[in-house]
Amino acid sequence: MSAAAHGGGAPDWPLHGHGHAEQRHSPLTSIDRSNVDRLGLAFEFSDFVVRGRTHRGNEATPLAVDGRLYFTGPWSVVYALDAVTGERLWTYDPGVPGQWLRKACCDAVNRGVAILGARVYVGTLDGYLDALDIESGERLWRADTLTQRSRAYTITGAPRIAGDRILIGNGGGELGVRGYVSAYDTDGRLAWRFFTVPGPGDDEHPELAQARKTWSENPAWDFGLGGTAWDSMSYDPALGLVYVGTGNGSPWPAGQRSPGGGDNLFLSSILAIEANTGRLRWHYQTTPGDSWDYTATQQMILVDRRIGGRDRKLIVQAPKNGFFYVLDRVTGELISAEPYTEVSWAGHVDPKTGRPVQNPDARYGAARNIVRPSLFGGHNWQPMSYSPATGLVYIPVLESDMEIRTEPRPFMPDSINVGAAVDDARSRHAADALLGERRRPPSSRLVAWDPARQREAWSSLPGTWWNGGVLSTAGGLVFQGAADGGLWIYDADSGDALRRIETGSAILAAPISYEVDGAQYIAVLAGFGGAPKTYPPGSAPAKYRNLERLLVFGLDGDDVPLPPRVGPPEPRAAHPQRVFDKALAARGSALFTVHCARCHAPRGTPNGYPNLWNLPAPLYDALEPIVLDGALSGAGMPGYADVLGPADVAAIREYLLRDEALYGRARLLE
Ligand code: CA
Repeated sequence: MSAAAHGGGAPDWPLHGHGHAEQRHSPLTSIDRSNVDRLGLAFEFSDFVVRGRTHRGNEATPLAVDGRLYFTGPWSVVYALDAVTGERLWTYDPGVPGQWLRKACCDAVNRGVAILGARVYVGTLDGYLDALDIESGERLWRADTLTQRSRAYTITGAPRIAGDRILIGNGGGELGVRGYVSAYDTDGRLAWRFFTVPGPGDDEHPELAQARKTWSENPAWDFGLGGTAWDSMSYDPALGLVYVGTGNGSPWPAGQRSPGGGDNLFLSSILAIEANTGRLRWHYQTTPGDSWDYTATQQMILVDRRIGGRDRKLIVQAPKNGFFYVLDRVTGELISAEPYTEVSWAGHVDPKTGRPVQNPDARYGAARNIVRPSLFGGHNWQPMSYSPATGLVYIPVLESDMEIRTEPRPFMPDSINVGAAVDDARSRHAADALLGERRRPPSSRLVAWDPARQREAWSSLPGTWWNGGVLSTAGGLVFQGAADGGLWIYDADSGDALRRIETGSAILAAPISYEVDGAQYIAVLAGFGGAPKTYPPGSAPAKYRNLERLLVFGLDGDDVPLPPRVGPPEPRAAHPQRVFDKALAARGSALFTVHCARCHAPRGTPNGYPNLWNLPAPLYDALEPIVLDGALSGAGMPGYADVLGPADVAAIREYLLRDEALYGRARLLE
C-alpha cells in the first residue's frame, strides 16, 4: 500500500475511500476546531447537464490527485477540474442512452471513479467499464461487464483498485438480476468473475456448489436471485484479499425466492476474495434468508487495533439490517455484533454461531407487518468514516420502519420485481400529514460508534430524513452534509455541532479533503436524487431548485450562493374532463405504483422529478408518445411500449387527473 493510500500526511484523496482500507479519514490538519468559523466557499462547479437532460442526484466521492479533481455526475459523466481554481480540464460523456433508465431502480446516479497510474476508470449506468486517459479524458478502452444485456443490470458504484486489477460490480437486485463482481486487467481483459448466487446452468466456479446447497432445488430463476455487489469493496494488499459486500435477494420474500427455505448464499454477505485468483477465502452472511432488502453492500472499513487483549486485523460494517459487525478480516470470524439503531427483525446475533436470532414475527405474508429498519436500512450507501485518533466510526444512521406484505407477481422485464409491497414510514408520514394524523416521522442521526465496546459514544440531534456521507479529519472534525441543505461540522470527540453551512442544496454524497500548495480544502457534491424521491417538506432544498453542484470550501472563503428559489406551483389550466371513471383510475394507480413510482414521487410531495400532478393541461392528452414511444427519452424519461399499451396510459392519465380533482391543490410544501 502506497503512502498516499495510507494517508500519512499525503495531500491527495487518491482512492474512493481515501485508502484501500476505506476509512475516509483525512490526515490533514490545517482546518481544525480553532478556525472552522473561517471556512467558506473557495469555488463551485455547477455545469453538469449533458445533452439537455434533467437534473439528477449526485452521489459521487471526488478523487483529488496532483492538484486535480476527478468525479462523476449523473449519467456516469466524468469531470476533471483544476482543484484550486475549479477550471474544467475535460469532460467525458459515455453516452448512456436515456432508455437505459428503465433498468435503474434509483435514478441515473454514479458514486465515482477510480484512478490507477495515468488512467481514470468509470463504470457506466449501461454496464461498461471505461478506461480514460487522465490527461485528456479520451477513452482508451471499454469492457462490457454485463453477462446479459437484456437483463436490468446497471452500474452506479465506483470501481475499486486491487493491485493491478480494476474491480466492478453492478446493480439491479430489485429488477431481477443475478449478482457478480468482475476483475479486469489494465488492458481491459477479464481476469476473473465471481457470481454471488447460483445460476440455472452449470456452476461457473467451485464456490457455487457450496452456495447451491443453501437454496431450493428450483429457486425463482426468472428473478435472477439477486445478491448484486452494487457498491462497496475494500482491499488489504498484505493479505491479498478484496472484500465485497453483496445485496438482497430477488424477489424479496425468501418463500417466493427459495420455497424450500435455506440461507441463500451469498446474499447479504461479506465475501473475502483473493484478488489474484478470484477464489473465495471466507464469507460471512449478515442476514440469512433475507426478506427485507437488507443488503450488506454498505461500506466495509479495515481497522487494525487491539480488542480483547489481542492485536487484530478487523473489518467493520454497519449494513442495512441495523447491526454493527466486527469481524476478523483474516478468517471471517465474528468478534461481535450489536444493534447501532432500533432493530425488530432479530433480537441479537449469537456470538457462538455468528447467526442472528431472528424474530419469527418479522417474517411476513399477505397481511401487513411492521419491521424495523425499513428497506432503506439503518444505514444505506452513504459512506461512514473511521478516525484512528478517536477510535470511533461515524455512521450516517437512518431511523425508520416499514409496513411490508407479500405481493407475488410474474416476472416482468425492466420492472421492479420484488414480490412485495412496502409502505415506508416516509410516504406514510406524507399520507398522515394529508389526513391530519401524527405518527413518529422518519429521521436521521450521525452516530459516533465505538467498535471495540460496541456502543454509541455520541449522537447528533435527529435531523431530516436522509443524511449524507461522512468525512473525518486529523483536525478533529467530522463533516457531513444533509438533505436539509446544510453542511454540518462536528467536534470528532464530543459531537458538538460547531457549524452548519447553508448551501440550499440537498447533500447525500460524502465530502473529501485534500491539500494543494499548503492550503487544505473540503469538497462535496450536492444535488438530490437516487432512491429517496422526496425532499423533507419545508426544508431548504424544497424551496430552491435542485441543481447538481460541486462545492469546495477553504479557509477565508465566501458564503455559498443559494440556488434560484422555486416559485409556488404553477396554476394549471383546468382539464376539461369532469367525470372520472373510478375503476379506471384505480387501475391507473396500480400501474403507476409498478412503473412510475420508482422516479415520480407521490402527489403533493416535493421532488426533483417533474410533478405529474401539475403538468400543463395539454400534456395529459399527449402522454402516449412520451410514456409508450419514449418521446422524452433523451431527457431521461424512457418509453414503456414493451409493457404498456394505450389503454394503460389512459388509466394512468385517469388516475392523475382524478387524484388532482379529488385533492385539489393541497400541498405539503410548507
Ligand atoms: Ca435492494
